[in-house]
Amino acid sequence: MLTQAPKGTRDMLPGDAYLWHDLEDKMRALAALWGYREIRTPVFEHTELFQRGVGDGTDIVTKEMYTFRDKGDRSITLKPEGTAGAVRAFIEGNLANEGLPCKMYYLNAPIFRYERPQAGRLREHHQFGMECFGGKEPTVEAELINLLMTLLREVGLQNLSVHINSIGCPECRPKYHAALREYLGNRIHDMCETCRERFEKNPLRILDCKEEKCKETVKDAPSILDYLCDDCKAHFEKLQALLAAQHIPFTVDPRIVRGLDYYTKTVFEIIMQSGREGLALCGGGRYDGLVAQLGGPDTPAAGFGIGLERILMEIKNAGAEPEAPSISDVYVASLGSEMIAPAFTFTQTLRALGVKADCDLCGRSLKAQFKYADKIGAKYVCILGGDEYARGNAKIRDMCTKEEKEISLEAVGQTLADMLK
Ligand SMILES: [Zn+2]
Ligand SMILES: [Zn+2]
Repeated sequence: MLTQAPKGTRDMLPGDAYLWHDLEDKMRALAALWGYREIRTPVFEHTELFQRGVGDGTDIVTKEMYTFRDKGDRSITLKPEGTAGAVRAFIEGNLANEGLPCKMYYLNAPIFRYERPQAGRLREHHQFGMECFGGKEPTVEAELINLLMTLLREVGLQNLSVHINSIGCPECRPKYHAALREYLGNRIHDMCETCRERFEKNPLRILDCKEEKCKETVKDAPSILDYLCDDCKAHFEKLQALLAAQHIPFTVDPRIVRGLDYYTKTVFEIIMQSGREGLALCGGGRYDGLVAQLGGPDTPAAGFGIGLERILMEIKNAGAEPEAPSISDVYVASLGSEMIAPAFTFTQTLRALGVKADCDLCGRSLKAQFKYADKIGAKYVCILGGDEYARGNAKIRDMCTKEEKEISLEAVGQTLADMLK
């Protein structure tokens, strides 16, 4: 137990760090280009924030949250999603006063959900998410979707398509709920327990059920798109025109409802076709009522969240990983134990010149040092010691061509720095 990570968690080991950094760098660069600045919020929040924000009846809140009492007897919950915390910070920081829209992203935010362990589902995972506060136009969703597609293509993923839907607003959704309940009528008794529970509180989510018998039942259910009010309808049509104008392929999919209560109007998913199956890589949508609902000023908003582990897995599956960088470019080998200190000092000189360098910290033989230099991908080994050192020189070995040359100790640092440029 002691040496086993808790179920549903995964370490990022040093050997994988470059994959994460590469992805994070791309995310940061795109966010900056599109005018989004980073926000960091605590890993835990008051439980009530998620109960009221995400919704009392959602799976996340009822089944999946890590909730505990702290020593001050407060109910605390580890973030089960990223939006509620960002909204809380937007309100608490009075960010509406800084001018709208207020565009922000979070990166590498740990997200905790008590999921049933199955392929790819982690109990702690990390998300990149974006939120845009204050924009009521569908250009907001179009921007978020465009950015996501740009990112996913940039990291090498293909066969992507955008699925969009509108789930209406507090004005038109109740009419659809009524129509859906009427359609489900007696059929609901043959559906799964979860669907039966959702019938009163949130019938929309019944469309989302993965059980075969339930899927079959809702196949001919009325579509929400036929019940949208004029405002929601116009918004959805404008969004489609914007996506088309940006050449983003999309499908209108009335089955997308998302598992969070706060969405209004637009919801979307990016689907990746792998084999016959389409898998949702990420999702998001508009949540015009959430800021006010949590006690802030009436502010339209939209956002998305995407799991980093998930994208990294797809990058790997697509064989689109970036090349692993060397750990050190120069390894300073010491010939004899009396050379350990001079090698150590010279290594600092190289680092000061901006050269990724390392030296022996284990008191190894020269042969073992060369073996290690190979392992860390060093392009050059600089050997200090022996006759060369007595002559005031060092020997450089090109690890690729195996060529060796002798250079004066004063010049060797700069020479290596120049050779690596
Ligand atoms: Zn509406
Ligand atoms: Zn069901």
